[in-house]
Parts: sequence; C-alpha cells; structure tokens
Amino acid sequence: MRDTDAMRATSLDPVLITGCSSGIGKAAADLLVKAGHTVYATARRPETLADLEEAGARVMALDVTSEESMTAAVQRIETEHGRVGTLVNNAGYGEYGTVEEADLDKVRTMFETNVFGLARMTQLVLPGMRRAGRGRIINISSMGGRITFPVGGYYHATKHAVEAISDALRSEVRGFGIDVVVVEPGITRTGFEDTVHASVANGAGAQPDSPYATLIAQNVQNTSSGYSNPLLAVGPESVARTILKAVEADRPKTRYLLTPAAKALVAARTLGGDRVWDTLVKQQFKH
Ligand code: NAP
Repeated sequence: MRDTDAMRATSLDPVLITGCSSGIGKAAADLLVKAGHTVYATARRPETLADLEEAGARVMALDVTSEESMTAAVQRIETEHGRVGTLVNNAGYGEYGTVEEADLDKVRTMFETNVFGLARMTQLVLPGMRRAGRGRIINISSMGGRITFPVGGYYHATKHAVEAISDALRSEVRGFGIDVVVVEPGITRTGFEDTVHASVANGAGAQPDSPYATLIAQNVQNTSSGYSNPLLAVGPESVARTILKAVEADRPKTRYLLTPAAKALVAARTLGGDRVWDTLVKQQFKH
C-alpha cells in the first residue's frame, strides 16, 4: 500500500464485514487483513472464523436478523474505535422457487437477512459515521439486482431492494462525508450455489406434480452449468479484490459490476428492453 493510500485506508478503518463464515465475506476479510486494515470479521457461528482470527482479524458473532446481536457488534466497535469506519453488508443467500409455489415464510426470512438486516446494520452505524464526518457503506448486491431470472424472482427482489435502498442512501448521506457503494457480483463459486439447490430441493423441487416441474429442473441445470463453467464463474477472491478497491478508493465508483458475462447480461437487459430479455430467457429456460 502507498503511504497516501495507507492514510486514507486507516481513516476508513475499522471495517466491519457481515457473513464471513464462507465465500465472499471470508475472502474479503482475509484480503483486507493482509492489506493492513483493521477488520472485524463476523458470522452467526463464530467458530467458523478461527482462520480469520489467526490471520489477524478481530472476530465477533453477528446475526443480521437479531437486533440484540447487531446492536452489540456495533457497540463493541464504537467502544473500541469511536465509530465503524466502513461497513460491508455482505450476509445474504438465495431462497429459490417460483412466485406461485415458493414458501412465503421462507421468503420473508430471506428478506429479513438480505434486506432488513442490511438496512438495520446501516441504521446502526450511521450516527457514528455522521459524528466522525466520514464513512463508507459497501452493499453486496448482485447482477441479480439488475436482471431477473425465473425461479429466482424473490431472491432478485431482495437484491433489487438493495439497489434501491443504496441509491436513496447515497444521496441522503453524501453531505455527511459518507460514500455508498454497490458491489454486484456475477456467478461466484461460494456456498451460495449449494444454498440455492437446497432451497429448491426442499421447496418447489420437492413437488413432482408441480406445473413448474420442467422450469424448476431447467433452473437447477442452468445453475449447475453456470457455476461449473470457468468462463462464467469466478472465485470469491475476485470479488474480494473489488471490495478492497471499494474500501481503499479515494473516490469509489457507485457500482462495481463484476464478470464479463454479468456485464453482457445487464447490457442486454438495459439496452434490449423487455421483449429482447424475455426472448433471451425463453432460450435459457425451456418451459
Ligand atoms: P455463502 O458462501 O453462502 O456466504 C453467505 C454468508 O452469509 C455466510 O457467511 C452466511 O452465514 C451468511 N449469512 C446468512 N444469513 C445470515 C444472517 N442471518 N446473519 C449473518 N450472516 C448470515 O455465499 P456468498 O456468495 O459468499 O454470499 C455473499 C453475498 O454475495 C450474498 O449477499 C449473496 O447474495 C451475494 N452474491 C453471491 C453471488 C454468488 O454467485 N455466489 C452472486 C451475486 C451476489 P452462515 O454460514 O451462518 O449461513
């Protein structure tokens, strides 16, 4: 790190990251520690954080669906550092199923994590950031915050919500010296794929007489082939490098969309409009 970068980075430390038990959160915590940042790596099950602690991260239990847990985590950092410098809202997962058949209780639980957890963590760190006159909030959205595939509608809805909240927040807090950044990963090899498959297997996919059986089977196949295709999928270290960039940039971009495939899909959606998009989806999801 150059001297000026180091000074800048220090002024936006400590970095609090949610969902560090695996995948993108773990890789980001590891990379930030190696880059010299003060990192609070958190997870619902703190025993999953032993390797990060050994690498130099401070570790803490944090469940973003628990008010008590979120408040305690932010209070501890404020006691030790005055305020959270950078919040990386990473915790999230995909509860898949068709709009008609998905279990709405499970969908609500996903919204609690992906949307309300992110929102509440943001509310908790903002007063300290405003008092400090500096801060950065990095929200891990998805290419799925810009495009939508069948069977993933409710998951995509959580990420579209993250995009909207981030846009509103960026304007609301700019005057306080706080940056809001959205990171939009494409297909990334983490625990995410297994969670998606499990949600389908335990939900809509468990109903063989479903009118959507073909579509759901197609979704499972597309998901598996996407994640196993080295031309489409990247490792979590790749997203971590972008998060590091977003943490350290003097003037971060408002959005970082990752992977060439994700960029192509978002461009097709944005430039092509609904009919082009529906045709593209129809080719991918025979139903
Ligand atoms: P992952 O390996 O499954 O990691 C998800 C993390 O979120 C885990 O640490 C998990 O903890 C945590 N989490 C879930 N519920 C939580 C809660 N209530 N409180 C705190 N932590 C919770 O998947 P990932 O790909 O790294 O996911 C990270 C983020 O990237 C997510 O927001 C995801 O939507 C986004 N993303 C992923 C992809 C992809 O293809 N992988 C693409 C675009 C966006 P537990 O171990 O306790 O469950």
